[in-house]
Amino acid sequence: MSLSSEHKEKIISLIGKEKVFSKENVEMDEGTFNSFGTDRTKVYSPNFTLLCFPKSTEDVSTLVKYAYQNNIKIVPSGGRTGYAGGAIAKEDELVISLSKMDSVIDFDPFFASITVGAGMITKNLHKEAESKGYFFPVDFAATGSSHIAGNIATNAGGVRVVHYGLIRNWVLGMKVVIGTGEILEFNGSILKNNTGYDLKHLLIGSEGTLGIITEVSLKLTKIPHDTQVLLFAVSDYSSILNLFKFSHNSSLPLLAFEFFSDLCLGKVKEHLGLASPFPTSSAYYVLMEFEIQDESDNDKLYKFLEEVVNEGLVEDGSVSQNSRQKETFWKYREGISESLSILHTVHKNDISLPLRKMEPFLNDLELLLASKYPGFEIALFGHIGDGNLHLNILKPASLSNEEFFKECKNVDPEMFELIKKHSGSISAEHGIGLLKKDFLEFSRSKIEIELMKEIKKAFDPKGIMNPGKVI
Ligand SMILES: Cc1cc2nc3c(=O)[nH]c(=O)nc-3n(C[C@H](O)[C@H](O)[C@H](O)COP(=O)(O)OP(=O)(O)OC[C@H]3O[C@@H](n4cnc5c(N)ncnc54)[C@H](O)[C@@H]3O)c2cc1C
Repeated sequence: MSLSSEHKEKIISLIGKEKVFSKENVEMDEGTFNSFGTDRTKVYSPNFTLLCFPKSTEDVSTLVKYAYQNNIKIVPSGGRTGYAGGAIAKEDELVISLSKMDSVIDFDPFFASITVGAGMITKNLHKEAESKGYFFPVDFAATGSSHIAGNIATNAGGVRVVHYGLIRNWVLGMKVVIGTGEILEFNGSILKNNTGYDLKHLLIGSEGTLGIITEVSLKLTKIPHDTQVLLFAVSDYSSILNLFKFSHNSSLPLLAFEFFSDLCLGKVKEHLGLASPFPTSSAYYVLMEFEIQDESDNDKLYKFLEEVVNEGLVEDGSVSQNSRQKETFWKYREGISESLSILHTVHKNDISLPLRKMEPFLNDLELLLASKYPGFEIALFGHIGDGNLHLNILKPASLSNEEFFKECKNVDPEMFELIKKHSGSISAEHGIGLLKKDFLEFSRSKIEIELMKEIKKAFDPKGIMNPGKVI
């Protein structure tokens, strides 16, 4: 008997008819229904029958209490832009979407903090912050769809980590419903609270396995002054590293330091119909964004340009002349994920390494692929200033999807061994979810994994919160 027929009526009586949908509901077509139990991985098919849209923390608590009493498994569903399979419901779990909890709850104009519902779309949070004269700095290509709590549950990074850090830095407090249905409030919206373990940090990056985040309080910051976006063509990896070093020496606030290979540029040009940024192609491209506070910063910028040209670090370069050109430069970088996914079948990896180890790692990887998987082409891009590479393997035409993903299953552990050898992490910012669960021990020790399991038990004694994910 499916979850739907057994429990639907009871759940309706608890939270109200308008918040409960089942697969056979005529109000929602099957595609839309299924989209709430999936994400962007395209590896697993959703399979669930009951979907709820609570409107308050109390609704969430009621649902989780019912699930706890009846041993029903739950998948918290955010904006479903994840790349780790964390929001996949494939075992007839109860899917709880936070989409209807998306309003501003409080704003403190003195301390510059905001409290919002978990389901607020990240871009809407940007707008709310700006309307109040502030800035929320976590940003990337999916923030038009992702939820703020989904960002927190994955400890999201993005294109401005090099300056502002991961989302963890911006979370003051949160309201959470843990696996028993109890409502906990971690830290309110204060900055200092040195009273033992700071439990909110356990929820950040927990991918829905400890509880459902229902409200979040975030610190805001000042809106950056004007910015300048620079695009450079570079021939090799060591030039990228040196560019990064020079950018620090310039003493200009560096807001972003991103890179992509010529292969990625080609895909974005093809998919978005953009022209080449430079007359000839280079191996890599670096996009940098600096904050320009006054005229003296412009002088610093030109000094920086002079230095990198004199040092022979770049083959070509361009400084944005207006906001439209800034947007275009950003499109070359932010359009990559989408262009690759639309033009190809892709196997994604999101890894981090100490910057110094990046080149030896890439050399080792090249040797591995050339010797064992010669048909595999790699599209490389990422937040290189954070030591974060998005490493996408493109399916060769000679392989079927099934054969390709089977091969990728063999490549991954060999690549993760290399990441371990070079002291990196198998997941920089996308998380573990279902996709990397079997490989956690490449980045975490046995004792760490045991401790994580004990922590999960404390929050979720019956193991109903997003089971099968992360640990
Ligand atoms: C084009 C593109 C670019 C991207 N770029 C980046 C990038 O630069 N940096 C980056 O970090 N990520 C990036 N991502 C990945 C993704 O957008 C992030 O992981 C994002 O934070 C996920 O948020 P979401 O709301 O979509 O979460 P979902 O995908 O819905 O869920 C992610 C996980 O969080 C859990 N979850 C969701 N809501 C809650 C809640 N209220 N309480 C508890 N758990 C919850 C889910 O169960 C799941 O385990 C990108 C994705 C795309 C498609």
